[in-house]
Formats: sequence, C-alpha cells, structure tokens
Amino acid sequence: MSGAAIKTVCSLCRKSFTTTGMRKVCPVCDNNMEDYFQAIKEFIRENPGTSVAVVCSALNIPPALVKYYLRQERLELVGGDSFLKCIKCQKSISSGRYCKQCESVALRAEMSGTLMDSSDEKHMQKEVTLFHTKRTLGKKK
Ligand SMILES: [Zn+2]
Ligand SMILES: [Zn+2]
Repeated sequence: MSGAAIKTVCSLCRKSFTTTGMRKVCPVCDNNMEDYFQAIKEFIRENPGTSVAVVCSALNIPPALVKYYLRQERLELVGGDSFLKCIKCQKSISSGRYCKQCESVALRAEMSGTLMDSSDEKHMQKEVTLFHTKRTLGKKK
C-alpha cells in the first residue's frame, strides 16, 4: 500500500513537485541540501562571526535554506536576533522552532501526532554550528 501522491510546492526553489509524504522540499533540493549544509558549515568555520546575509550571498543560497537548518537545530544563531522566530509566539530564538516557553507545550502536541516532518529529521544528527547574524555584528557596548 502506498500513500496518495499530492502536489505541493518546494519551500526552497518554489517549484511544484509530487510527494507521497509530508515533504516540503523537492527531490532536487533535498539532494543538494547536504552539500549546502557542508558549504555553510565550512564557510562559518572559516569566517567565524559571519552573518546570515553574508553566508547567503557568498554561497548563493536563499535565506529560507538557512532558516530551514536553524529550524532543524543544525545551525544556531548567536545573539538575539529576529531572523528566526518562535512559530507560536513570534519571540526571537536562536534555533529550532519554538522558544523555551512554547517548546514544552508544542512537544506535547507533537507527541499526539501533529508533527509534520519528523521522518525527514530522524536520520540527521544534531550538528549545531555557531552563527552570527547581521545585527549582532555592530555590537553595542
Ligand atoms: Zn526545490
Ligand atoms: Zn514561543
């Protein structure tokens, strides 16, 4: 038995593709994503304290992709910035999808089956990379 194929739009390249799961990324992007991630990691290692904007223009990747890794907690922002927000209360967070307060509530909800792409994430181990965003560079004393 197989799930019904549905048409959806890739959240990275905006092309439509057919999926049988809850995937949000098309197979092409999915394929490239590990490469992108390695490139981002490499870039951050060579340019500590870089910003999202710099990484995106240097590697020619959309900010949505950086956000995707942040949501997966594979990258982490340094310093409070509004680049990434809690999907529930819109508070600034450094990685993941929820702020600390919403997390416990959200996790309980996910346990009951509302989590969307956990199957995508389970084969990826958590790799947190320190990451500065634009606003933290002009640091105030
Ligand atoms: Zn795509
Ligand atoms: Zn929140």
